[in-house]
Amino acid sequence: MTLNAHPALPEFEYIRPASLAEASHFLSLHPDTARPFLGGTDVFVRMRDGFLAPEFLVDVKNLDGTNQLRFDSESGLTIGAAVSMNQVAASPDVQAHYPLLAEACRSVASYQLRTRATIVGNICNASPAGDTIGACLVFDCVLHIHGVNGFCEEPLSSFFKGPGRTILKPGDIVTAIHLPPPPKDCAGKYMKLGRNQLSDLSIVGVAALGYKEPACTSGYRFRLALASVAPVPLMVSEVETYLANNTITPDALHEAARLAMEACSPIDDVRGSARYRKQMVRNLSLKALAEVWKKLG
Ligand SMILES: Cc1cc2nc3c(=O)[nH]c(=O)nc-3n(C[C@H](O)[C@H](O)[C@H](O)COP(=O)(O)OP(=O)(O)OC[C@H]3O[C@@H](n4cnc5c(N)ncnc54)[C@H](O)[C@@H]3O)c2cc1C
Repeated sequence: MTLNAHPALPEFEYIRPASLAEASHFLSLHPDTARPFLGGTDVFVRMRDGFLAPEFLVDVKNLDGTNQLRFDSESGLTIGAAVSMNQVAASPDVQAHYPLLAEACRSVASYQLRTRATIVGNICNASPAGDTIGACLVFDCVLHIHGVNGFCEEPLSSFFKGPGRTILKPGDIVTAIHLPPPPKDCAGKYMKLGRNQLSDLSIVGVAALGYKEPACTSGYRFRLALASVAPVPLMVSEVETYLANNTITPDALHEAARLAMEACSPIDDVRGSARYRKQMVRNLSLKALAEVWKKLG
């Protein structure tokens, strides 16, 4: 079926495969002209704006369990690719065990948009500004990928190659994300600075997670991930190392926030200058780490 659904959209053919195998096969046969899509909230906007003109859009929703969300305390959380951000944020399991992920989902655009938008789409779009990516990174997310040779797994930490670029090959479809069981009694915070409260990408995003860790000199481990301040979503290992090895005090949190600022390499763009972003990384990192520390009691 050929569609020209919106006057400003280029024509494309809508493909609805019956299985993952069929979808991967089709995508591998048309590496330059076919694209998978889920909610379409990135794809259609980029097509409308002339950045993409795929001949085929391959609908990978509703394939082989991609619309399921499952949690158990032994194995953790699996979120199918087609599960919307609203479904994730409303899940009692996510709210109970990964509230940071629910908070990150709720920071994206508007309720209406989140009924379509997915975490997997947010990740595969590979924008450094993706709001849900930091929360996935601090929980050590792994991607389940179906390709022409079957399934494989890839840590999210090695998925991104640059703005809009990932390790995915033609025919590869991310079918789910998996988060291991959360560290016991962990606390998290997502802080987003946008130009307005609704429907804007982040100027800076900070996802922080903390928990007790007897193996660390400080007795705690903190993990920090940043959005919109580097070519790819950024885990700041310097913060983790520093706070693992130094007693947690207000001064130590200030130093950790300074390390986060030093680690990032933002650019100037319409949403903010590089200099402003760096300052905001320090401010928001401090706030997020202090809030996590307070929650840890
Ligand atoms: C008005 C508006 C406001 C927005 N605000 C925000 C915001 O505040 N924060 C934010 O982070 N984002 C925002 N976005 C961007 C977008 O909504 C998110 O990135 C969303 O998570 C994308 O999910 P999706 O399911 O719609 O992805 P899609 O548009 O379907 O796909 C996104 C990309 O991933 C690829 N892809 C999709 N599925 C797969 C798969 N299974 N395997 C491999 N590749 C795949 C597609 O080819 C495409 O390149 C906004 C967008 C709009 C239009």
